[in-house]
Amino acid sequence: MPRIVMKFGGTSMAGIERIRAVAERVRREAEGGNQVAVVVSAMAGETDRLVQLCREAAALYDPREYDVVVASGEQVTSGLLAITLQGMGLNAKSYMGWQLPIRASGHSSALIEGIDVEVLERVFDDGGIAIIPGFQGVTSDGAVATLGRGGSDTSAVALAAAMKADRCDIYTDVDGVYTTDPRIVPQARKLDLITYEEMLELASVGAKVLQTRSVGLAMRRNIPLRVLSSFEDGPGTLIVGDDYGKATRDKHMERNVITGIAHDKNEAMVTLTGLPDRAGTVAAIFAPLAKANVDVDMIVQSVPRPGEPSLLTFTVPRASLTHSVAELEQRKAEIGFDEILTQTNVVKVSAVGVGMRSNAGIAAKMFETLAERGINILAITTSEIKVSVLIPEEYTELAVRILHTAYGLDAPRSEA
Ligand code: ADP
Ligand code: ASP
Ligand code: MG
Repeated sequence: MPRIVMKFGGTSMAGIERIRAVAERVRREAEGGNQVAVVVSAMAGETDRLVQLCREAAALYDPREYDVVVASGEQVTSGLLAITLQGMGLNAKSYMGWQLPIRASGHSSALIEGIDVEVLERVFDDGGIAIIPGFQGVTSDGAVATLGRGGSDTSAVALAAAMKADRCDIYTDVDGVYTTDPRIVPQARKLDLITYEEMLELASVGAKVLQTRSVGLAMRRNIPLRVLSSFEDGPGTLIVGDDYGKATRDKHMERNVITGIAHDKNEAMVTLTGLPDRAGTVAAIFAPLAKANVDVDMIVQSVPRPGEPSLLTFTVPRASLTHSVAELEQRKAEIGFDEILTQTNVVKVSAVGVGMRSNAGIAAKMFETLAERGINILAITTSEIKVSVLIPEEYTELAVRILHTAYGLDAPRSEA
């Protein structure tokens, strides 16, 4: 019998009416002859509310207790979906992260170490449906752990891998993966197919439709992943391997060099001035940041002339800014900089596409398009299939829109 994981996001679980609609979809799949495990998110807005409560309770809260608080949203929706399915005469039961268990390490952005599937096997043998709260696991010492924002996607993919599911369907509030966030660019186009690699890059540069870790895991374990709407029927977007029917993929992607544009407002820019031009300076800056678990992203160094003091600019997640500055200030004498300048009103805009590998001029087109509108670029990074620029935050929507048009991604008028 085919096995599937169905994951429903916060908007899909927001209120009893919507949970009833979710239950209908679950019933259809179960009665269609599938063994079904359902992974649910907390109701939309609930996790934000719980995070805010932790902040109000104490500015520097204990991550262990933060997890106790924020994991509760998913417990509520799991129970409510199980009750709703039972009310429809179905054999459904919820199992919390600690009951399976979903073994995890760390707090507030814990990693999944493994998932035991014995309980699930028994549920399936019994013809039942299992409801699992997303976002949560249990540490080796029995504490509740959560997987970082958007972590229910990762719960779903990890569960699909553990139970050797035939597919993992991610139901959300849009009907698939688009060429850019359809809430920003109405001309965005839904993709029928996207490769794991491209989806991984898009997610990592801000397309929050899937948590980055979930895509990485699906890619490593070759889990067929689909993003689709929980509000309307449709094929959604399939996330596939690079070798997936190449001819079909080229046709579907219409040979676009760029597959999508994403933006990320979670960046803060740090500039160190008056740095000594000698070996070891950069290491002295980044080693302590790495030790403090700060995820440094873009890095730009400028050396006016050999021997003269240089400038170093880099970006860190906004939440790590205060912490990063404190780490560096402590080592001011050792590193030898003059000043630390910071800026939070910046955004990273990125273009992603496997077609970049065989096409020159992609980055130049980005720079020209932004220049035509007078948008100043603060930093640049590139990878094999991605170009990212850091620009002032006020230009976010304009930049995403003009790049979407410049790379030929806009939907034809009739579709828009
Ligand atoms: P869920 O609560 O179901 O997990 P999320 O809010 O995490 O949903 O993710 C869905 C949202 O992702 C969409 O509402 C959309 O605004 C946003 N999004 C950003 N980039 C894209 C993209 N390229 N394609 C589709 N949606 C995107
Ligand atoms: N509820 C969690 C969040 O809002 C996890 C998720 O929905 O994926 O981040
Ligand atoms: Mg999400």
